[in-house]
Amino acid sequence: MTLNVVKGKFMWAKLTKKEQLTEDLWKMWLKPEEKFDFKPGQYCTIGSGGIERAYSIASSPDEDQIELFIELVPPPDGNLTPLLNELNVGDTVTMRLRAKGIFVLKPEFKNHVMVGTVTGVAPYVSMMRKHLNESESSDKNFIILEGASYLDEFGYDEELMLLDKSNNNVTFEASVSRPDEERNDSWTGYKGRVNNILLDRLDEWGLNPSETIVYACGHPGMIEDVKEKLENSDYTFLEERFWKD
Ligand SMILES: Cc1cc2nc3c(=O)[nH]c(=O)nc-3n(C[C@H](O)[C@H](O)[C@H](O)COP(=O)(O)OP(=O)(O)OC[C@H]3O[C@@H](n4cnc5c(N)ncnc54)[C@H](O)[C@@H]3O)c2cc1C
Repeated sequence: MTLNVVKGKFMWAKLTKKEQLTEDLWKMWLKPEEKFDFKPGQYCTIGSGGIERAYSIASSPDEDQIELFIELVPPPDGNLTPLLNELNVGDTVTMRLRAKGIFVLKPEFKNHVMVGTVTGVAPYVSMMRKHLNESESSDKNFIILEGASYLDEFGYDEELMLLDKSNNNVTFEASVSRPDEERNDSWTGYKGRVNNILLDRLDEWGLNPSETIVYACGHPGMIEDVKEKLENSDYTFLEERFWKD
C-alpha cells in the first residue's frame, strides 16, 4: 500500500546510501517512490515515527536521488534526527509530495555570495550543481563562504574546492570557529565565525553591492548577525533559518 494513496500528501522514500562524516553529521540519499520536482535551494519534508522536519536538498534536480546533509540534535532536544541517525540502507521515511521554499538562486544578480554554517551549505551545493554550467551563469560570480566549528564538518569542501579550481567565476572559502582546538591542528584556512569575517571578505572581493545578493543559510544566530551587518548597505539579502534561536 502506498502512503500517498492513503493521505494524498506523502510518499515513501527509501534510504539508498548513508555516509557518516563525524559522530553527528551524515549525508543520506533517498529514492522517492515518485518523481520529486524541486528547484535548487528548496527543501523537502521527511518524517519517521510521525515526526516531520524540513531538509534542504543538496542534490541537483537532474539527479535521481535526493541527497541530504544532516546534523544530529541529540536527545532529549532532538526528535527526528535521533531516529534518522538509526536508519539503515533499505529503510524508508515519509516524504511530502511537494518541495517548498523561496531560498533559490536569484538570476537577476551578477554576484552571488552564499554564506552557510555546516549543513547550511546544502542548498548552495544544489544550486552550483544545477546552475553553474548553464550558459546564463557564465557572466555571474559565485562565492561560497562556509563556517564550521571543525575542519571535518564542511561536508562538500572537496567538491566546492574543485569547482573553485576549475572555474574562474567560483570561489570557495571556509572558516573554522574553534581554530585553537586540537581537532583543527592541521587547519590553514580562515579562522573565526563566518558572520564575523564576512565584511572583511566582502571588502576584499570588491563586489559592487547593488549587483550582489548575499544568501545566508543555517544557524539562526549567524543569519541574524549577517542581516544586521548588511542592513544599511546596498547588498540584497536572502535567508533560510534552520531553527529558531
Ligand atoms: C527550511 C529548513 C531547512 C532545513 N534544512 C536542514 C538541513 O539541510 N540539514 C539539517 O540538519 N537540518 C535542517 N533543518 C533543520 C531540521 O528541520 C530539524 O529541525 C533538525 O534536523 C533537528 O530536528 P530534530 O527533530 O532532531 O530536532 P527539533 O525537534 O527540530 O529541534 C530540537 C531543538 O534543537 C534546535 N535545533 C534544531 N536544529 C538544530 C541544529 N542543527 N543545531 C542545534 N540546534 C538545533 C531547535 O530549535 C529545537 O530547540 C532545516 C530546517 C528548515 C526550517
